Amino acid sequence: MAASYQTLPANKRHCPFCGVLIAMNLSQCPSCREAVPPVSVAYRSSPDGRRAIRRGLLYMLLAAVAYYFASGYGGYSLPIQVKPLVTDYLLPVLFLAGLGLSLYGAFQRIRA
Ligand SMILES: [Zn+2]
Repeated sequence: MAASYQTLPANKRHCPFCGVLIAMNLSQCPSCREAVPPVSVAYRSSPDGRRAIRRGLLYMLLAAVAYYFASGYGGYSLPIQVKPLVTDYLLPVLFLAGLGLSLYGAFQRIRA
């Protein structure tokens, strides 16, 4: 996938009607005067695992922050008593899931 993208200049794309390179923000092709559909997120998103890495890191951060507060390390005592089950099992599982997801994404990027 990467090869076709790297040949394109930044913020440029091909007109779907005449194939001419046009600026990303244009809504009309300057060459053939056709209305160009806006760039969809799905089209621009890459399947190289970057999204998986980001989501995995988010999970890890979420678990770490939740663990930090639930364990009382921050000096806060939560208004509700957090069950030990949550801090002992759920948060490590969430952390490991995030770790696995980011590793999976990293592996996909290496392979791509
Ligand atoms: Zn065109």
